[in-house]
Amino acid sequence: MADPYDLLAIDSLLSENEKSLRASVRAFVDAEIRPHIADWYERAVFPVELVPRLAELGLLGMHIQGFGCAGRSAVEYGLAAAELEAGDSGLRTFVSVQGSLAMSAIAKHGSEQQKSDWLPRMAAGKVIGCFGLTEPGSGSDPGSMSTFARRDGNDWVITGTKRWIGLATIAHLAVIWAQTDAGGSPSGIRGFLVPTDTTGFTATPIAPKLSMRASIQCDIVLDEVRVPADALLPGAEGLRGPFSCLNEARYGIAWGVLGAARDSYRAALEYSLTREPFGKPLAAFQLTQQKLVDMALEIEKGFLLALHLGRLKDAGDLQPHQISVGKLNNTRVAIQIARDARAMLGGNGITLDFSPLRHANNLESVRTYEGTDEVHTLVLGQAITGIAAFR
Ligand SMILES: Cc1cc2nc3c(=O)[nH]c(=O)nc-3n(C[C@H](O)[C@H](O)[C@H](O)COP(=O)(O)OP(=O)(O)OC[C@H]3O[C@@H](n4cnc5c(N)ncnc54)[C@H](O)[C@@H]3O)c2cc1C
Repeated sequence: MADPYDLLAIDSLLSENEKSLRASVRAFVDAEIRPHIADWYERAVFPVELVPRLAELGLLGMHIQGFGCAGRSAVEYGLAAAELEAGDSGLRTFVSVQGSLAMSAIAKHGSEQQKSDWLPRMAAGKVIGCFGLTEPGSGSDPGSMSTFARRDGNDWVITGTKRWIGLATIAHLAVIWAQTDAGGSPSGIRGFLVPTDTTGFTATPIAPKLSMRASIQCDIVLDEVRVPADALLPGAEGLRGPFSCLNEARYGIAWGVLGAARDSYRAALEYSLTREPFGKPLAAFQLTQQKLVDMALEIEKGFLLALHLGRLKDAGDLQPHQISVGKLNNTRVAIQIARDARAMLGGNGITLDFSPLRHANNLESVRTYEGTDEVHTLVLGQAITGIAAFR
């Protein structure tokens, strides 16, 4: 019999280092996430006590070179994201927000001083970061943001609101994107490093949620938040600043969601081999085999796509529209697999004893954040036709 989780022997395309990293993250998820995730999800708790363990595993800012970060490859980062998301999207989201968004913003656009001040502590899990781009009235179109930073002597004073900001209530540092005075210098959208204990900064969790329950997202109010001149990220001007970080996170999602898909498929396969409607295993019915085969094919193709993107990224050749292919396709595939797996579990599938409906609910968020299905479709529509149809 073939390996139902690796029909195409995709493992043969991975190096020993890649497989060993994957094994260590998988063991961590099996030991420290799986036994507790249903309870965390039900109680809507993010297990903040796991942050030091994620740091010990070298998963925080793992693709960043230097400053205490693990300096792992893009493929290794992707494999880790898939294993974490097989546990729960909320845990992978933590690693994405910390590493791909907050730490990447500093690593890509920060001064040497900012990098050495923040990155080592963030890699060690001692400082948690968040990334404030979205606003109540500005999501898919972040260029329309209204948060504003005005220059006042040597300081910047930031006023506005942000919404859906992951980790903000437990974060020590917020990367805040704001419009700046076009008449001044510098102008346009800029990023600021704002310690969350700065006067005028307030974060409130968004609740109750039906998705990403083992994860924190918040509303933020910035009421005349005063930061010094050196809080500005010098290397980020305009939307290219936040977009370069979003590309890192979107790349991780193209892998991560396949973990949720694989875990859903595993639940459906195991259940179908033991459940016996009409006197024989569910897996013995042709209709069931069709469903399982469809899941396995999409997961295999999804991993090949993610691996290809990872190899391109490690070679320095990955283009933004190619990331859209991975994010759009693999999230779409994963949510369908999670839903189909839920249906195969019958009534039991709606309990927290099984993972597929939890994954499907989480994936509703994943298809919305880091560019919705529609936004990535429009990115690809433009790539194919040369015509932008965003507005
Ligand atoms: C769990 C979760 C975590 C998040 N974490 C963060 C975070 O850490 N930091 C952060 O800054 N943001 C975060 N977000 C915000 C997320 O990025 C936004 O929700 C997302 O960009 C969509 O914005 P919106 O919710 O305002 O929806 P809108 O932009 O209002 O979109 C509503 C609908 O309209 C569609 N639409 C929009 N424009 C077009 C168009 N041109 N053509 C056709 N359809 C269109 C969208 O696809 C969507 O279906 C998070 C969101 C969630 C749910």
